[in-house]
Amino acid sequence: MAEEALVNDGTPIDAQWSQICSQLSVEFGESAVSSWLKPLTIGGISDGEMKICAPTLFLKNWVVTHYAERIGKIWEHINPEVKKINFVVKKNFSDRRSTDTSLLKKITSTPTPHNIYGCNINSSSFGLVAGASLANDEAKNFGTSNGSPLNPDYTFENFVVGKTNEFAYAAARKVAEAKNVSFNPLFLYSSVGLGKTHLMHSIIWHIKKNDPTRNVIYLTAEQFVYKFVKALRYKDTEAFKGQFRSVDVLMVDDFQFMGNKGTTQEEFFHTFNSLVEEGKQVIISADKSPTDLDGIEENLKSRLVGGLVVDIMPTDFDLRMGILKKKAELMGIELPVKVAEFLAQKITANVRELEGSLKRIAAHSQLLSGREITLDMTQDVLKDMLRSIDRKTTIDEIQKKVAEHFNISVKELQSSRRARTVARPRQIAMYLAKQLTSRSLPEIGRKFDRDHTTVMHAVRKVEELIVEDPALAENIEILRRTLEN
Ligand code: ADP
Ligand code: MG
Repeated sequence: MAEEALVNDGTPIDAQWSQICSQLSVEFGESAVSSWLKPLTIGGISDGEMKICAPTLFLKNWVVTHYAERIGKIWEHINPEVKKINFVVKKNFSDRRSTDTSLLKKITSTPTPHNIYGCNINSSSFGLVAGASLANDEAKNFGTSNGSPLNPDYTFENFVVGKTNEFAYAAARKVAEAKNVSFNPLFLYSSVGLGKTHLMHSIIWHIKKNDPTRNVIYLTAEQFVYKFVKALRYKDTEAFKGQFRSVDVLMVDDFQFMGNKGTTQEEFFHTFNSLVEEGKQVIISADKSPTDLDGIEENLKSRLVGGLVVDIMPTDFDLRMGILKKKAELMGIELPVKVAEFLAQKITANVRELEGSLKRIAAHSQLLSGREITLDMTQDVLKDMLRSIDRKTTIDEIQKKVAEHFNISVKELQSSRRARTVARPRQIAMYLAKQLTSRSLPEIGRKFDRDHTTVMHAVRKVEELIVEDPALAENIEILRRTLEN
């Protein structure tokens, strides 16, 4: 099995893969990794060739076009035995959840005094990071753990403060430094890629550096749900409760994924109340304010607004300039002011994209042995990205065009109707939204009042249909062309 495959240095191949995923999530964003890379499984290495299996042809092609080169480079770097990566389609790929469950069982049944659960969880992957304490040089080790590690670069020192985020920064610092709880919970919200996770990790680093005895749990809401559901299944809820209610600081990232499940929310509500009563700090992030969160019970909402609610606004030009300067410094590259100004003017959607553009330029310059970064080169390297920014196909536009094309209304497209005449166009619209916009799966899902797994399913379904049904493939091609013009 892949988990047992070892290379010379004794590091399991799966651990290397986790390390690569962590690196790619820094470069391309967490959502890219959870959408495209987490469904992959590692087949093993033979004769210097690493086999990576994708569940569908579409996914394989996507990964090959977008990430293969980078995966190859990083893998070769951490394990020189890997000379080539071979991507294959393997339909009945093994369900990694079975191994994940045993990991969960093992760790939950071994009490660790100071745990940091730093990871992202989705249907195909689950990872836990448990550390007795977090000295600085341990930071690096997080990178090798299964799941999304704490990012050593996400510190207060590396967070650039501007008008749009200064309040959130000040609140996060205050919570990290405070001996006594002054507001509970701290609720941070913003749209994607504006620094919530960065601030949350900064709080943990700060606490661990100054007071390593404090017991911090950091996890995503999705992971909380998963752990709770598992605990229920294994009739292990007492251990679950004990674990969460004995922390000093509980941090839940991406709270919008807490889900509609009554019992899980209830459990969170009790955990939350018990921690607040005992004067323990709770910190939550989400993509909306507590009052705007969908599917969250009213009593929980009213508790969430009971502390300090802070938002991070979209960046302004000055902040983008500041961030580019800082990130260029961290990457060790010389970024001419003209290029920085160009990027800060063009790439305004969020910081993650801004950083992504800088990484692409840096990688390009390094590949060409340190070629000087110029405006021309920047425009050339980023031409796809810039074209799509100029084009700005929106999900609204896609919904409108697809509805028109299939002679249904946009309302029907967004409705919960399952009739084929509506469901198929809906899947196609989701597929096109994933292909033609830079929106993440959850963001696309929201536009259709669905969750990200439905979008993922739609993308896969349409990819299969394209192969099976040439008439439909042509329809989609026509739609794509109209939307791209
Ligand atoms: P969110 O959790 O809000 O989606 P992240 O915290 O993941 O966003 O931020 C996305 C990327 O942008 C990260 O690499 C982060 O370091 C960077 N970033 C966001 N805001 C800032 C900032 N003010 N200073 C430095 N980097 C930032
Ligand atoms: Mg985040």
